[in-house]
Amino acid sequence: MKLDLSELIKSPGAVIPFHLEENIEVEGVELLEPVVADFKFSNTNRSIVIEGEFKTTIMAECVRCLKRFPFPLEFSFQEAYTRQDLMLDTKGNLLTDDEDIRSIFEGYVLDLTELLRQNIILALPLAPLCSPDCKGLCPYCGKNLNEGECECSGKKVDPRWQKLLEYKKKGGMRVG
Ligand SMILES: [Zn+2]
Ligand SMILES: [Zn+2]
Repeated sequence: MKLDLSELIKSPGAVIPFHLEENIEVEGVELLEPVVADFKFSNTNRSIVIEGEFKTTIMAECVRCLKRFPFPLEFSFQEAYTRQDLMLDTKGNLLTDDEDIRSIFEGYVLDLTELLRQNIILALPLAPLCSPDCKGLCPYCGKNLNEGECECSGKKVDPRWQKLLEYKKKGGMRVG
């Protein structure tokens, strides 16, 4: 979705609210629903201010038990652009060499999809947990301990000793 902000940029004092629901593709991220966004564009005379609040749900993978689960994502954006930031050359191209601005503006046309995509990446959880007290996987058998105890419970033995103990059980060796 692209939005031409020429009128706003020409009109000091103008405020434009903008609601958007869009399916967005983000590389490496599975979005489970469209992004719902509420924007407010304002021309404060000194600058063009873009504010936005967004939400969506992504598929995350628990860092402890590796289960995939829906993770609600909420994020906000606020940025002010000065006249200088948005100065155009005679062909209507931005003069600024600020990559952040150039990545979302083409002349006065704002690429909302790209803005949302960038913000989704910034909002991604670093270490998602399916629940705050996720028990994770058994380090011995790999069972998901949220689904119940495994056979290894009670004998949390260093796997390096496991072979030795099995040998002992068979009566092949006396230990201790
Ligand atoms: Zn988990
Ligand atoms: Zn186990």
